[in-house]
Amino acid sequence: MKTKGRIHPVYAEMERTVFDRMSALAREHGAINLGQGFPDAPGPTPVLEAAVRALREKSSQYPPGAGLPELREALCGYYARRQELRLEPDHVIVTSGATEALACAVLALVQPGDEVVLFQPAYDAYAPMVRRAGGVPVSVMLQPPRFAYDAEALERAISPRTRLLMLNDPLNPAGTVASEVELATIACACVKHDLIAICDEVWEEVRFDTAVHRSLISFDGMAERTVKIGSAGKIFGITGWKIGWMIAQGELAMAVSRAHQFLTYSSAPPLQWAVAEGLAMPSAMLEEQRSGWARSRARLKEALQAEDFAVLPNTATWFLCVDLSASGITLTDRQFATRAVAEAGVATIPVSALYEGEGRPEHIIRLCFTKPENVLDDAARRLARWRRQLR
Ligand code: PMP
Ligand code: GLN
Repeated sequence: MKTKGRIHPVYAEMERTVFDRMSALAREHGAINLGQGFPDAPGPTPVLEAAVRALREKSSQYPPGAGLPELREALCGYYARRQELRLEPDHVIVTSGATEALACAVLALVQPGDEVVLFQPAYDAYAPMVRRAGGVPVSVMLQPPRFAYDAEALERAISPRTRLLMLNDPLNPAGTVASEVELATIACACVKHDLIAICDEVWEEVRFDTAVHRSLISFDGMAERTVKIGSAGKIFGITGWKIGWMIAQGELAMAVSRAHQFLTYSSAPPLQWAVAEGLAMPSAMLEEQRSGWARSRARLKEALQAEDFAVLPNTATWFLCVDLSASGITLTDRQFATRAVAEAGVATIPVSALYEGEGRPEHIIRLCFTKPENVLDDAARRLARWRRQLR
């Protein structure tokens, strides 16, 4: 059979994701993998033990499509404590990771011809999902080092065809957090132009400043127009579990849950039980985990700075970004990443792979720091040694 012309152009023209490609190259070259974002640690023991117990003691048959009632309750309690959100279990739909939640929201809410504002850099799944749903992504560029949101640029991007906006806060790959004023500006634009907001807040718990995460859903007029997305993968550092969720009200909740019922319908119940237990555990467990990540962040930052790499300011996520130009390196980020994995033995992510639009920077690389300290030190040394012979 001839497949030419039979495959949807979004997929026909697509590469494998940059995360997959860099992890494969890391394996091929036996390199240290600071590319794809995942911790080397196994995750909090009490949460792992809860999963083992659930496997032995609870049903492994289909749970309710919207998620175990116990997990939906636990999420309401968790968001009440951590973010002062008042939610009902009906507002929560459990998904197979944030990725499925994003797909549900886009499939349910984007119609052919709809324009969807994407702040760039954007998580690599957003634009293809929007295009596959027939929507048209419209980029609003955020620029290093601060990746600040500009009210005028946002206004310029909005047209009578704009229906949605996708916001990722805290922002992967930058590791920055939108200020209260920036969030208020985005919320005002949504209300003024009657836009729905898909808010990807998977990094809400991975913040190293002292501020409490403030969700766009909590701003005036946003509760009924926001789909807030979260992931246990990031909260507990267990990326392979793929337990995520959507928070939405009324018609929006109905729409996204309809999309979910024919994507996966439901997700592994033992893992749902364990996440429900984990969310109700004392916050000291999460604080301890965060302190460990904070130490790793400081360690990689110091090791890179000691070798004169210019590290961009950041305050969230598992990632540090390095400005190659300011570090005296003339390679583009893609050239750097492709060569560094083979020649230095360190896998990184070229940030331009997560950027669409005019004026995207091509001199920033992202490094994941949730690794043992000796691995981070070794990676910084390898990169430094390799850079010396680049000159
Ligand atoms: N959104 C963002 C911004 C992410 O960084 C990630 C994963 N790193 C996801 C979504 C996907 O999350 P999950 O693994 O829960 O599908
Ligand atoms: N979101 C992860 C990252 O930013 C990767 C997830 C994936 O590989 N799909 O590294």
